[in-house]
Amino acid sequence: MAIESFNPYTNRVLRRFQAFSWAKTERILGQAAHVARTWRSTPFAHRAACMHRAAELLRERQDELARIMALEMGKPVADGRAEVQKCALTCDYYADHAEAFLTDEPIQSEAARSFIAYEPIGVVLAIMPWNFPFWQVVRFAAPALMAGNVGLLKHASNVPQCALALEKIFHDAGFPPASFRALLIETDLVAKLIEDDRVQAITLTGSELAGSRVAALAGANIKKTVLELGGSDAFVVLADADLELAAKTAAQARMINSGQSCIAAKRFIVEKPVVKEFVAKLKTHLQAMRTGDPLDEATQFGPLARPDLADELTAQVNDSVAAGAKIELAGGQEKPGTALFRPMIISKVKPKQRAYYEELFGPVAIVMEAKDADAAIRLANDSRFGLGGAVWTRDVRRGEELARRVESGAVFVNAMVKSSPEVPFGGVKKSGYGRELSYLGIREFVNQKSIWIG
Ligand code: NDP
Repeated sequence: MAIESFNPYTNRVLRRFQAFSWAKTERILGQAAHVARTWRSTPFAHRAACMHRAAELLRERQDELARIMALEMGKPVADGRAEVQKCALTCDYYADHAEAFLTDEPIQSEAARSFIAYEPIGVVLAIMPWNFPFWQVVRFAAPALMAGNVGLLKHASNVPQCALALEKIFHDAGFPPASFRALLIETDLVAKLIEDDRVQAITLTGSELAGSRVAALAGANIKKTVLELGGSDAFVVLADADLELAAKTAAQARMINSGQSCIAAKRFIVEKPVVKEFVAKLKTHLQAMRTGDPLDEATQFGPLARPDLADELTAQVNDSVAAGAKIELAGGQEKPGTALFRPMIISKVKPKQRAYYEELFGPVAIVMEAKDADAAIRLANDSRFGLGGAVWTRDVRRGEELARRVESGAVFVNAMVKSSPEVPFGGVKKSGYGRELSYLGIREFVNQKSIWIG
């Protein structure tokens, strides 16, 4: 894929970038490996000062960064600023807590003294997607740099300017330049990086296909991976739920980032007595959302990030409708080869339809009817994915009990799934493995070393 900034709203190429050669990439890797030897022993206080400065710079530059996202991948500027603020919050969070998260942990054993020491491992390669081009990277980079590791970023080919803007922030914040570098490379060089002994581990957020390819190669080279892949989150609405709030939240949860979020609610599983009313309310909320130029402050959802993503979503919907799904709200792509896609609702989605077993990465809500709560949980779990999920009921104890039965990395009761720095984030099944954020996230890429004193 060409490395270029392409505006999905105007359908125009903004800027093309020359992909780095292997010689250049290898030079940067060498510098990263070199700086990793000294960065690992810098005091936490120094790392924290740099990370707090990165947070400040993110806040200072939020308008500019939101504009780059709007232009490169169609995110409305208001959402872009919110994303950058969350990045700043996460930099502050790890600056404040990394030392405590990685402090020696005493173990009761037969030794005179024994403990776990959490030590940096060196160069971590991050392969990241375009949907939250700052957030996805920061939630890797903030813990990695605070742990004493260094990062190489291979960002998605359609967001090179986001990658370079973030690299500049870390450099301006005082991190050694070699400790965080954006590599404008095509995927063929990723394999060479993974095979190189100077790369210790790989983290990838993206599609199942990319995840399985990268993990296979990493496995062959005995390297640890964290994978954060797709999701088809269930949003279960029981008959006793606050239907108005559930439907309003459902519309927001489906439309995060114009529907292109791994933790967007995708399958709305509703108890039979309230399904008609829920669909009517969801329809009203989705129709009320404003589309337009992502640079316009009033825009609530923009185009999808690339025309090919809209083409693929159209094909998924059309194939499902041809196989029996029913359109409840007609929206969809304006024209083939363009990125604007209006919200849709489809129902009567059954196994064997693409909408049933694939992830719909855009503003299409799937509504399924369940005869009772048990049937709803069965449907929720009948998915290859297991990232997030939501359960809506006024009976909070029952909500909690049902939440435990959903096969996913997170379940929210009477709320929409979201990520925040304190809460571990990651999936089960084909949604991936490993955890980001919280103290679990920072402990993924460290040597959890046992020390025994006899
Ligand atoms: P990809 O998974 O292809 O892209 C994500 C990242 O992986 C990009 O940096 C991409 O680079 C890289 N990549 C892709 N293939 C390889 C490979 N073989 N080796 C190394 N790196 C690779 O996502 P798409 O942009 O194609 O989006 C398609 C679908 O992926 C979406 O519809 C959605 O289902 C899912 N997705 C999930 C996301 C999530 O948050 N979990 C985020 C984005 C997408 P490059 O851009 O150069 O191809």
